[in-house]
Amino acid sequence: MSDTLSQLQIILYPDPRLRRKCEPVTDFSPELNALAGRMFDLMREAKGVGLAAPQVGVLLRMFVMNHTGEPGDDRVFVNPRFVDRDGWQEGEEGCLSIPDVRVQVRRAATVKLIAQDLAGVEYEYTSEELIARIWQHETDHLNGVLILDHMRPTDRIATKKTLKELEARYRGD
Ligand code: ZN
Repeated sequence: MSDTLSQLQIILYPDPRLRRKCEPVTDFSPELNALAGRMFDLMREAKGVGLAAPQVGVLLRMFVMNHTGEPGDDRVFVNPRFVDRDGWQEGEEGCLSIPDVRVQVRRAATVKLIAQDLAGVEYEYTSEELIARIWQHETDHLNGVLILDHMRPTDRIATKKTLKELEARYRGD
């Protein structure tokens, strides 16, 4: 994997790999660590707060995030699953795979998540506000769900042109 790691790039809508349901991670080898490292690099280059493996074309249930930009806040979540959610929050979201599109998305306000780390050790996490929002956005990616699926009619109209341009670019028009 390491030979190909440096070739990984963030893939863009409407790449069909963004619509696939990802497979659980079962191999907690050094390659997984290297993949996470490459994903952090790409996330930082793109000035994002989160990046899921399918966004670099790797169809595994894993995402990285850093909600502050401080190196000490790098976090990796492998095989995440929600065990509890409470309340609602409204907020605007973008996605590194859908440039220049921002939409209002309704998310749970507080969520409890169980996930493994890069060594396969399982932890339980609870968070709210921005962190809870990132967890839900990135976990959506692992199920082939994009912010476009959460759009309201007004956002659907507002983003139509940009999405058409992305589709044309993907086809190579
Ligand atoms: Zn995204």
